[in-house]
Amino acid sequence: MDKAIFLDRDGTIIKDDGFIKEIKQVKFYPYTFEALNLAQKYFKLFIITNQPGISKGYITFEEVTTVNNYILERLKKEGISIERIYLCPHSKEDDCPCRKPNPYFVDIASKEFNLNLNESYMIGDHPSDIQLAKNAGIYGIYILTGHGKRHYKEVEKNVIKKINLKKAIEYIISKI
Ligand SMILES: [Mg+2]
Ligand SMILES: [Zn+2]
Repeated sequence: MDKAIFLDRDGTIIKDDGFIKEIKQVKFYPYTFEALNLAQKYFKLFIITNQPGISKGYITFEEVTTVNNYILERLKKEGISIERIYLCPHSKEDDCPCRKPNPYFVDIASKEFNLNLNESYMIGDHPSDIQLAKNAGIYGIYILTGHGKRHYKEVEKNVIKKINLKKAIEYIISKI
């Protein structure tokens, strides 16, 4: 069985720039490529992103899909393969099954890719990423980029916290 790292998108692999509707707004952190290249030696990689701006009408599904495809292509150029990018287009008020912290997409990936969730991780900059990890039965690592510092106090003390994606992945690999 393969193990997986589920990655948040905004504030985790790219800078959080509010509602990202154009590819020119996509800014990777300087360490993202190196970190994901290292991670994929041991883990299958997935992205799970909540984009409530679609439901609220600030951005369209097509704009987000274009941005997501650009991110995948850019990563591919760096030799990084992401198995799937999972998108929730709903807002909290929609009360959908797929919005983080619901474990919906982890469950789908787990079945499709026969993943070992006991050795899988979620990395993200929002408390909902950590709650998703809990709900899905995987490890959660909270990082301090993006919204990470702002919501720091909302995250339980026993949750592992790292300053950024690179440090989180180095930590995970040190545990193998
Ligand atoms: Mg985020
Ligand atoms: Zn949803």
